[in-house]
Amino acid sequence: MTKRIGVHLGTTGGASNAVERAQEIGANTFQIFSSSPRMWRAPKIDPKQAERMRELRAKLDVGPLVIHTSYLVNVCSQSSEVREKSVAAFRGEIERALALGAEYLVLHPGSWKGLTRDEGLKLAAESIERAIEGLPWQSTPFHILIENTAGAEFSLGGSFEQVAELVERLRHHAPVAVCLDTCHTWVSGYDLVSAEGYEETIKQAAATVTLEAVRVWHCNDAKAARGSKLDRHEHIGEGTMGLEPFRRLLNDARFDHCAFIAETPVDDPGDEERNVRVLKSLVK
Ligand SMILES: [Zn+2]
Ligand SMILES: [Zn+2]
Repeated sequence: MTKRIGVHLGTTGGASNAVERAQEIGANTFQIFSSSPRMWRAPKIDPKQAERMRELRAKLDVGPLVIHTSYLVNVCSQSSEVREKSVAAFRGEIERALALGAEYLVLHPGSWKGLTRDEGLKLAAESIERAIEGLPWQSTPFHILIENTAGAEFSLGGSFEQVAELVERLRHHAPVAVCLDTCHTWVSGYDLVSAEGYEETIKQAAATVTLEAVRVWHCNDAKAARGSKLDRHEHIGEGTMGLEPFRRLLNDARFDHCAFIAETPVDDPGDEERNVRVLKSLVK
């Protein structure tokens, strides 16, 4: 079984270009935004683009295709106006993901500022359920992946338990699974770095979200310290985490079914390729 290792890529010139770009830089999976991540309005997917993407992915054996939801979407906002916009925008995200044949759509559970966490959790589940209602996902591999967050105040999903709670609520209503982000895991307080800490953290993930449900690991080193709750990604091996946690993850048979995708900064040309190369070099 080949490891699936890739990186978040831009889609200048059309989403299908990212497939060739992925292959050029030695990746066999990748993540994109299907629209501008900071704008509410999104264009429809051109069926020709979608077809080209399917063909190229099959030909070059590139997958899974992971799409990251726009940062504007907040499915548990206290404002019903923002929530309605978020449900509509997230429905658009699901439609575009299905049109492109994406396996996974990553979603941050949102911010419940002004509410209680329980109210936020309930709203997030309701909103996601409404967003996917009636869309034809049943005969596809498509899953919504709930991503753990850095644990900032009022953000839902800052612990494995919180991600598990949301997945549990949605289990019978939508295809949901989990994306864990190494940087978010570390800065939210889990020790993913020491050998014992790694085992303990994975044990906690197994007891909450379950390891089978983890489909994607976002592989990001961190600029900030463990427990800082500061979400600042760093190049693999150059941050407060170092190379070891990535080596452990990539060689952990319990995650053989996962895709490993870097969302590292692009400071210089070639940074995407470099981070993919570093991750690949850690596989034994
Ligand atoms: Zn994310
Ligand atoms: Zn992430």
